[in-house]
Amino acid sequence: MERAYDPYENVVTVLEQAMDVGNIDRSMFEIIKNPQRAVIVYLPVEMDDGTVRVFEGYRVQHSNIRGPFKGGVRYHQDCDLNETMALSTWMSLKCAVVNIPFGGAKGGIKVDPKTLSKQELRRLTRRYTYAIEPIIGADSDIPAPDVNTNSQTMAWILDTYSMLKGKPCPGVVTGKPVELGGSRGRESATGRGVVISSKLILEQMGETLSGVRVAIQGMGNVGANAARIFHHRGAKVIAISDISGGLYCSDGLDIDLISDFVTDGENLLKDYNAPGVTHISNRELLLCECDILVPSAMENQINEELAQKIKCRFIVEGANGPTTAAADTILSERGINLVPDVFANSGGVIVSYFEWVQNIQTLTWERDQVNEMLEGIMTKAFYEILKEVEVSKCSLRMAAYILAIRRLLYAEEIKGIFP
Ligand code: GLU
Repeated sequence: MERAYDPYENVVTVLEQAMDVGNIDRSMFEIIKNPQRAVIVYLPVEMDDGTVRVFEGYRVQHSNIRGPFKGGVRYHQDCDLNETMALSTWMSLKCAVVNIPFGGAKGGIKVDPKTLSKQELRRLTRRYTYAIEPIIGADSDIPAPDVNTNSQTMAWILDTYSMLKGKPCPGVVTGKPVELGGSRGRESATGRGVVISSKLILEQMGETLSGVRVAIQGMGNVGANAARIFHHRGAKVIAISDISGGLYCSDGLDIDLISDFVTDGENLLKDYNAPGVTHISNRELLLCECDILVPSAMENQINEELAQKIKCRFIVEGANGPTTAAADTILSERGINLVPDVFANSGGVIVSYFEWVQNIQTLTWERDQVNEMLEGIMTKAFYEILKEVEVSKCSLRMAAYILAIRRLLYAEEIKGIFP
């Protein structure tokens, strides 16, 4: 039986495994393991009916050894300090794996945003920004969207921060609307990165995306964009799911029709009907026979029990931490190739980096340029990971972690410990 899942414990377990496999000196492990700073804030918000509710929020700054702290902000009822610590650690590893000059951070508020009106969400976001203002900034810590936050949330953070500073500060957040200094291509970047990762792993087997059967869990920013891009690149998206359930069609779903259906208002997949399309559960989606399974919802989706039964050939992790450490071992033993989150979903933060660079230089780049540079960075990183797989005789996850840990520790070493 697996114990109650703790994402931070999970990431520390995998870090420890990687230190062993990569034969990395353990003396600096505590530096990688612990975040540099973890802040809890309590946020009073006046609700539309005049009552006041106090929400708990977090900002965890894991590492700025390689550059400013960087990472999203999520709104979720299950968000807590441990989850935010894990997510901030993954951000440090992610930025190191793809070698962009950022550290790692993550923020969150324990709230189910669906229960709040738009005005309440705006007041909550502004109050959260006010609370973390002393520790964020374009050259110190740069938030971005994550689960249940989007470009609108970033616009509110940007405006609140700029008001407090008395000047426009576009570089304080990424993932903001293009009209406020956001980057073209940022909105779809994480999903695009998932498709690029899939293309790269298929190439290793002498295959292409054409006709490949894909199942995608989650229709948030990552899942929805990945589904659309897979579909347009000739893959066959046979299953997708959201919180209401999943859809399946062995001939491939019409993703454009479904996207129009769900984005036009508040529609859920359970209400979608079309000839040849059957309704399946979330579990059925994870267990369906396909080539590529893309978990792009939350952590802890693929556990030991499911890992034994999964019928895909590849897993490409769109979400952060969807596979438990125990499940990972089973998948490896079963020969299922897994492209790990710290690489597979790095497209978002890579284009965040491009956005930040454009803001600092007061430039705007074209979408094609952004997409091309994204693919360039991911391809280079993928071959570095493959090289490490050969050297350390290990899985892609272990190789990605080993690369990232080495880069973080090398930076730590040449900088030295203060004071
Ligand atoms: N929230 C995204 C992630 O988990 C993007 C972070 C960013 O752009 O800073 O990678």
